[in-house]
Amino acid sequence: MKIHEYQGKDILRQFGVPVPRGFPAFTVQEAVEAAQKLGGSVWVVKAQIHAGGRGKGGGVKLARSIDEVRTLAGQILGMQLVTHQTGPQGQKVRRLLIEEAADIKKEYYVAALTDRATQKVAMMASSEGGMDIEEVAHKTPEKIIKVFVDPLVGLTDAQALELARGIGVPEASQAEAVQLFKNLYRCYMETDASLAEINPLILEGNGHLKALDAKFNFDSNALFRHPEIVACRDLDEEDPAEIEASKFDLSYISLDGNIGCLVNGAGLAMATMDTIKLFGGEPANFLDVGGGATAEKVTEAFKIMLRNPKVKGILVNIFGGIMRCDTIAEGVIAACKAVNLNVPLVVRMKGTNEDIGKKMLAESGLPIISADTMAEAATKIVAAVK
Ligand code: ADP
Ligand code: MG
Repeated sequence: MKIHEYQGKDILRQFGVPVPRGFPAFTVQEAVEAAQKLGGSVWVVKAQIHAGGRGKGGGVKLARSIDEVRTLAGQILGMQLVTHQTGPQGQKVRRLLIEEAADIKKEYYVAALTDRATQKVAMMASSEGGMDIEEVAHKTPEKIIKVFVDPLVGLTDAQALELARGIGVPEASQAEAVQLFKNLYRCYMETDASLAEINPLILEGNGHLKALDAKFNFDSNALFRHPEIVACRDLDEEDPAEIEASKFDLSYISLDGNIGCLVNGAGLAMATMDTIKLFGGEPANFLDVGGGATAEKVTEAFKIMLRNPKVKGILVNIFGGIMRCDTIAEGVIAACKAVNLNVPLVVRMKGTNEDIGKKMLAESGLPIISADTMAEAATKIVAAVK
């Protein structure tokens, strides 16, 4: 689960990571009031969407008067902000963060993240802050420094200092950097984050460090422990199909292709998408109906897939282990009737009660194309959507 920058900064603040003073605003009037409350003479008007690259896309602007805050807030609120992370359709801006402008001497990058290769938390830092970190990693990998944290010990002073020195924090500010990195690590651990990224972390003219941006991803399996984080959820920023799927306990991810896939088990779902691609097709979604799918659940799954106008065919690939193939066949037949299916449907079923399931599909009178192997299923659905 993702949250907005202003929500992330509230969390950082609680863990002792310094951030600029600022207030969220949902209207132009609130933006003006926020600037007045902050005082000073320079403010930053920042679009709040769940995507990075807002600066380059025109969603982060400096204002030198209250009038300018008003004008910029009016321009940014409601705009369709396009960044390299939103896709070409962009994302509508519904919230702003108005904050005091910082005196930036240098921009760094720092993040805590889960490193799957070492199965540890990595603290990653770079002297090249403010930029797209993927680009830094690609072009100048030597400018990224990583330390891996022993979960029983936590981030040590020595590791934090290694990061601070490695990215060139001036000596006078290194002690502050050490404390900040340790606080960030603690924040990451205690909130069950999978990413806590500050880009840029800045060195101010006065030698102090501050987080100018905040990006968090939280492990959704741990959200039950964090009602305060769940309260930050902004459904406007999420894919409506994925929200609908989560209501029915279906794991669904929208993709760009035209073949809807309905599979039981995440591993089989991944393998099914791979097979579709191998045979020249493109999956429209990842969908795992789980082990205990009922006819109702399968019907909802069909409805969600078919809401996507790009879907030109559906592949159902089921392994009947605990789940019986006849139950799935019942679900598929009910779903086809309920949604008035008008795209080709290929069904492959293997396992418990396979014969009964196949017979039910064959006798249903529905135009279901059946397949025996994964290769056959993929070949048939790819041909059907062409
Ligand atoms: P994004 O990563 O989505 O582009 P950021 O919050 O990182 O958004 O802002 C982009 C850039 O805008 C920063 O790298 C920084 O140079 C500038 N900026 C952001 N917030 C402030 C601020 N409070 N004061 C001064 N400059 C800022
Ligand atoms: Mg940023």
